[in-house]
Amino acid sequence: MFAKTPVAILYDDIFLEHNTGSGHPERPERLFDIIQTLKQNPDYKYNLVWPKLRKASNKEIALAHSNEYINLVENEIRALINNSPAFLSTGDTVITPKSLEVAKMSVGAGLVAADEVMKGNVKAAFSFNRPPGHHATKDRGMGFCIFNHAAITARYLQQKYGIHKVLIIDFDVHHGNGTQDIFYEDPSVFYFSIHQHPLYPGSGRPSEIGSGAGEGTTLNVDLPEGAGDERFIQGINTYLIPKMMDFKPEFILVSAGFDAHQGDLLGRLAYTSRGYKEVAKMINSMQKQYQSKGIIYMLEGGYVPENIEEASRAIIEELFLL
Ligand SMILES: [Zn+2]
Repeated sequence: MFAKTPVAILYDDIFLEHNTGSGHPERPERLFDIIQTLKQNPDYKYNLVWPKLRKASNKEIALAHSNEYINLVENEIRALINNSPAFLSTGDTVITPKSLEVAKMSVGAGLVAADEVMKGNVKAAFSFNRPPGHHATKDRGMGFCIFNHAAITARYLQQKYGIHKVLIIDFDVHHGNGTQDIFYEDPSVFYFSIHQHPLYPGSGRPSEIGSGAGEGTTLNVDLPEGAGDERFIQGINTYLIPKMMDFKPEFILVSAGFDAHQGDLLGRLAYTSRGYKEVAKMINSMQKQYQSKGIIYMLEGGYVPENIEEASRAIIEELFLL
């Protein structure tokens, strides 16, 4: 199997050092299976590149977060006196002394992916970052998230490379309230989420469509428990694809959570890897149709390592065909 152009994998062992404590579903082991497969499977050897990561600067993080919130995160993490997990004061996100460096590298992974695509080295990338990001709002970390990678990467693409219109597709089982919040009044970033309802954090009803200049560039599809692949695929076909005829995305980011996969610990949408593969094909088609500059997938949730491995591998194999 040979890719037309290689796919960039963004990963660093430092992502394993955000130690959430025993029994927490968002744990380092989530990444073990997929990284091992990507490193060891001979089929992938010539198809993947592994760019060196860097930490995002506070100025870059401030593309999507307030300086007050960035200071709060820094102060609370620096104040930790031992390694036992504590909670960020703004929400249900575990922090440990190492979490600041890990979170900044995690944001940096998205920025390095953006640079690789814009330099023409790759057309697509997959970031296996921890912690996840889509619940982090401008001034509040919650839902295991510290900084919002997808949002910061979207703004970075706009600011550094003059990309005008970015599409963010979020298929994590939970609604990405943080990403929606950051772009709610912004018509230049289209936020689409398909998620389980009712479920944490409770937002993401179809009536939430953006406001002001951003009215119409937020789109939510909520699915009932047990929805399965057909409803997943149909949701994208019926709701997202027609909207793109007007929006014409210049870049596609994907908040790729795998907690909607059958057998997940937190989600109950019962998607399978076949569903993720079909959706990856549809996203590839969108990229081709609108000649978007690239596609970057970023890991959000997903709490069964084998599911993350199987589903993200199915997606990466589709990215080889771009
Ligand atoms: Zn989730």
